[in-house]
Amino acid sequence: MSQYIIAFDQGTTSSRTIVFDENAQQIASAALEITQIYPQSGWVEHDPQEILTTQIQSYANCLQQSKIDASHIAGLGITNQRETTVVWDKKTGEPVYNAIVWQCRRTAPYVEELKADNKLSSYIQKNTGLVLDAYFSATKIKWILDNVDGAREKAERGDLLFGTTDSWLIWNLSEKALHITDYTNASRTLLFNIHTLDWDDHLLEIFSIPRNMLPQVHPSSKVYGNLRIQGNTLPLAGIAGDQQSALFGQRCVQYGDVKNTYGTGCFVLMHTGTTCIESKNGLITTLAATDGEAQYVLEGSVFIAGAIIQWLRDELKLIASASETESIAQSVEDSNGVFLVPAFVGLGSPHWDMFARGSLFGLTRGSNRAHIVRAALESIALQSNDLINAMEQDLSRSIDAIHVDGGASKNNFLMQFQADIGNRHVHRPANQETTALGAALLAGIALSYFTTIPDFQKSSRTFVPTMQESNRTKIISQWHKAVERSKNWIEQN
Ligand code: ADP
Repeated sequence: MSQYIIAFDQGTTSSRTIVFDENAQQIASAALEITQIYPQSGWVEHDPQEILTTQIQSYANCLQQSKIDASHIAGLGITNQRETTVVWDKKTGEPVYNAIVWQCRRTAPYVEELKADNKLSSYIQKNTGLVLDAYFSATKIKWILDNVDGAREKAERGDLLFGTTDSWLIWNLSEKALHITDYTNASRTLLFNIHTLDWDDHLLEIFSIPRNMLPQVHPSSKVYGNLRIQGNTLPLAGIAGDQQSALFGQRCVQYGDVKNTYGTGCFVLMHTGTTCIESKNGLITTLAATDGEAQYVLEGSVFIAGAIIQWLRDELKLIASASETESIAQSVEDSNGVFLVPAFVGLGSPHWDMFARGSLFGLTRGSNRAHIVRAALESIALQSNDLINAMEQDLSRSIDAIHVDGGASKNNFLMQFQADIGNRHVHRPANQETTALGAALLAGIALSYFTTIPDFQKSSRTFVPTMQESNRTKIISQWHKAVERSKNWIEQN
């Protein structure tokens, strides 16, 4: 009887369980949605108990639907939404507050105050690889300690624990035995020194966070101990934050390997091996998922990618479904000079302009629906291309190929345009569930379930650039003109 490996994918919108076989093929999955809680404008929370119960229920449903007996599961890997912060009471096991989700901006005013201190910003970049931002966990933990009655006293007595959602699940499922996380998750807290691989005392002091709240940090592939789930005992052997897990699942493990995930936004990650590169182009440096010594990643994100397609569908009613954008875009030869800059929430790396706003350029009486749809898809590729070019500059070498995944990577027009505009190959695997696959591979390697990595990308498709150089440079230069004109649009106060 075959043995299987499972992955828990604790994401922002759902908790999923996925079963993989020894060829790393996905054979079953089940998911339950997570309630999004918006207590105020710009605030986002999850209920930690719901995170736990949906994760357990997705496991139960998955085994039931696939009729797999728990005795045939060799082990488990966890991948999770990064930065999302849970603080709980060690004695009662109760969270002291809801999970503060990575998207939550409640600590932005405090972060703005801290930013006045240039020395601190540069200390943070040098030691954590990050920029000062409300996105990362540190200010979220501080907010809980400062705003929940009695929390700071309890934390100082050693009665509270902090974790990202991986740690929260593991602590509960190990019956309170394991308070751990991995390098990739720790490197998103703004408290972890990515060179010494330890929590940074200076930053703990700045953010007034007691060290004894923090989990022990391990490599991403290792047998950590056993979890008890629905009466079954399963070895836990992989942990990684979602983007680094996808990078591993794409088998991007060498210096210069790049993957781009096309979801609501885009996340571009480049592996830089054991070299830690400090970006000069607005990218961040973070830790890769490995089974041993520290390895590094350069990361950049596009805030609005697939979301622009949702906007065309839901707000403009220009399309009925995301998938039809492919044939609509292909129905015209080009965008007829139309450019859409989707700076709806400002522009991230490498432009970094919070005051930019979305804009549509180049309209004429000949502009039609197909041109606008095409311009929207092109903007996803053009933004990603700017990030990949910034990586090339930081690396001082060219990137000839990228690996892709995520919902919008199904769009063949978008993938071909991505290949054309960057003049680089685009590899799309048959299995685009690379996030869960990464966690399963990390666990399977530690358990010697996978002795060699299976050739699971056999039926992948490669998009080869075909665009003329003169056309390519013209589109890029017009795009940059449009980006410049979108910048600094709203009043800065
Ligand atoms: P997330 O994990 O961020 O929720 P997914 O990976 O599920 O995102 O991808 C969903 C996003 O991809 C949506 O924003 C949707 O508009 C976009 N999308 C899905 N299918 C297509 C398609 N065929 N063409 C273009 N965009 C698409």
